[in-house]
Amino acid sequence: MKRFIILLFALLMMGCGHVDREPEMVTIRGVVFGTYYTIIYYDEGGRNYQVSIDSLFREFNRSLSFYDQHSLLSRINRNEETAVDKYVDVVLHRSLEIAEETDGAFDPTVFPLVDAWGFGFSDRSAHAAEKVDSILEFVGIDQVWIDDGHIRKADDRVQLDFNAIAKGYAADLVGKLLESKGVTSYLVELGGDLTAGAEKPDGSLWRIGLEVPAKDAVAPQEWEYYVEISHMGLATSGDYRRYFEDEDGLRYSHTIDPDTGFPVDHHLMSVSVFAPDGMSADAYATAFMVMGLDQAIAFVENREDLEAYFVYAADTPEAFGYHASSGLVLLTRDDL
Ligand code: AMP
Ligand code: MG
Repeated sequence: MKRFIILLFALLMMGCGHVDREPEMVTIRGVVFGTYYTIIYYDEGGRNYQVSIDSLFREFNRSLSFYDQHSLLSRINRNEETAVDKYVDVVLHRSLEIAEETDGAFDPTVFPLVDAWGFGFSDRSAHAAEKVDSILEFVGIDQVWIDDGHIRKADDRVQLDFNAIAKGYAADLVGKLLESKGVTSYLVELGGDLTAGAEKPDGSLWRIGLEVPAKDAVAPQEWEYYVEISHMGLATSGDYRRYFEDEDGLRYSHTIDPDTGFPVDHHLMSVSVFAPDGMSADAYATAFMVMGLDQAIAFVENREDLEAYFVYAADTPEAFGYHASSGLVLLTRDDL
């Protein structure tokens, strides 16, 4: 009997050697950029790439971290360094392109305003509104450019802010890292921003729940609609989780309109953008929060490569309105 068991075992082992191995699903979770990440992918042999991914994040942070005073971005912002690395080069070029396309609604030079309104390193200035005009003099896409590998600023006070694009870019870079390991089927999620690779091995798409805005920063998340995606980025911008409430209960958005210099103030509560990559989705989502519902819908409908899902405040405080761009297929629970 014992011999029989051993033989069976040996046969099973041989069998395994001849059959193609099914890709295994691997899930990795961690913390990065002050938020959580979840990465799911299919890999033959189920190899775990977390060490490589975390080291990519460390390299990324050394370049683009906003909070690390030693990062290249911080040094550029203090005018201690002008030479760019590959990360700053890519993200600034794409930022300036999207800034141009969106007529400055997205603007990587917005930081001095973000800071004045209390969303950077300083407390909100009681005189933020009075300072806006003087700050606007050194905000704008004509204030910064790259010349032969070096950042040039029209004014020393120009400071860059990639918070509205860096998470999407980092998600794309994780996707590229996985592809370099031979993984094609993946979903990378960083604090709600996503990059999806190819569909799953069984041919199904990646199903994503679209969040309904919470009433305040601590309310639990809820989902209403689902989308199924592959080969694209998806990013959401919204004010319902990051805002500043003053003594009179007035809310200030952390999204600044670079045209007026003031926090945006309209009924668009959140926008989720579907774009060819995560970096673009992230930047357009922020731009659309600045544009507001009507202008953003017009922008998306003009573009073959973009779709968007908007949530806006309706007449009563508890009621939301939804709008999906014409190419977007929204699924409900009944469709699943
Ligand atoms: P997101 O959550 O992607 O919309 O990014 C919001 C962050 O981007 C803010 O906390 C600011 O640091 C920065 N930001 C605010 N307004 C703008 C803007 N108009 N263009 C680019 N970045 C912005
Ligand atoms: Mg963004």
